[in-house]
Amino acid sequence: MRYEMASRLGHLPTSSNPVIAERLARYRKPEDSFNKSMIVDRIVDVDSLGQTHSPDIKYVVCVDGSGHEDQEAYDRYPSTRVLYMQIAGVFIDLRQMLEQAGPFVDPARLADATESSVVSGFLPGSFLEHETYDDPNEAFRAEFFELFADTVIQKRSLLELLLETQRFARPHEAAAAERGNLLLTKCPNRECALSEPPRGYQGSPIPGLTISRCSSCSTALWPTDALRIWEQFSSDDSNKQVLNRTSQIVEHLVLIGVALGIEAMSPRMLQQTAFICDGDLALFGEPARFQHGLRGCWQEIIRRSRLRGHQPPTIIGVAKSGYPVEHFHGIRRFVERRHLMRLDDAYMTERLRVRSLAETYFGRKLFYHSGDGQLLVITVVPETELAYGYGETDYSDFSRFPALARTLDLLDNIGTRLYDDALIPVALAHHWAAYPLANAEKVLRMLTERTVPSSE
Ligand SMILES: [Zn+2]
Repeated sequence: MRYEMASRLGHLPTSSNPVIAERLARYRKPEDSFNKSMIVDRIVDVDSLGQTHSPDIKYVVCVDGSGHEDQEAYDRYPSTRVLYMQIAGVFIDLRQMLEQAGPFVDPARLADATESSVVSGFLPGSFLEHETYDDPNEAFRAEFFELFADTVIQKRSLLELLLETQRFARPHEAAAAERGNLLLTKCPNRECALSEPPRGYQGSPIPGLTISRCSSCSTALWPTDALRIWEQFSSDDSNKQVLNRTSQIVEHLVLIGVALGIEAMSPRMLQQTAFICDGDLALFGEPARFQHGLRGCWQEIIRRSRLRGHQPPTIIGVAKSGYPVEHFHGIRRFVERRHLMRLDDAYMTERLRVRSLAETYFGRKLFYHSGDGQLLVITVVPETELAYGYGETDYSDFSRFPALARTLDLLDNIGTRLYDDALIPVALAHHWAAYPLANAEKVLRMLTERTVPSSE
């Protein structure tokens, strides 16, 4: 197992291990591959974007799904595991610094996550026996469905939100969603003909909100089977990947759910709200294709804002780790403050070696050296069309992101705070009035009544 290997190697730093050092000499250091002209060609001064700076962002909704664990289920049976997931979420009022009194969350209590948790989920891990489902995979799928059906964000369950986003996915997915269906591209029954579907198979429609049966093998199907996270589930090994995938999609659905809730209550407030996600605006692995619906749904929210004569809300993913973050720190001397770097497809694949861009990302990645010196690796949603193309077109032009200047203004304002703490919601709650998203509706009602004069 992996951890045994780690302990055998001990804590000897890589650089002082002669065997490793000798072999590493055959490789180039990251710095050696920095290409100055490739970098400077792509740098843009924020002020040259020529984009509007108003209205400024006054509210921030942020979620963080890193609070999840694959933990021991029963004492003395460390192989029995449960998957526990907590998604922290807060609503920040940037107009109110923390000194003011109010019904805010206490950042210290926020840090232990229970206070700010907007989603608390249970999923079975390995070596558990369900009282109804003999097959552990089936038990997992049933519980997964329950999590999506029972978790409600602003009057909509995660299940309803998933279906809603599909209405704005690719044409075949959108057509199915109009009829209340999701497309299942692989049947969970290994004996079924649809368990190994042909390449390019677009999936068979299954009801998006209720349990059904496979049209080919009549095995019981849950709508959430369409996400295919069950493929990674292992009844006898760690399920960390399953947790990652699950919390990722849930996080994105929560943000969209809150955005739709704010839009319904106060569209005027929506245009002054930023939605921040800890991590990239992307879906990795089996559920990746659902990113089309996430992008489409955000673009629909943006489109409706424009129709009302408003500026759109801003949607930002903030990556705190990974090679692109390290790379940006490495090349920081080339990028002045208040400058951003365009990361076109060539730079993404050749320099940052990020693969499957069009398949996974619904936001475009860029580097921003903020006014207060923070190096931010962010992803932003384009107002129309794809975040990344399939080779023929490069979609990196900043004109496709008309809300970018407002986004960067916000990051200048909150930049340093983003890295204060491991959790973005907690970091922000240390400085501004923060309300837990768990009772978002109550909070929003209070805020809209207080902030939006009735004459508007
Ligand atoms: Zn089947």
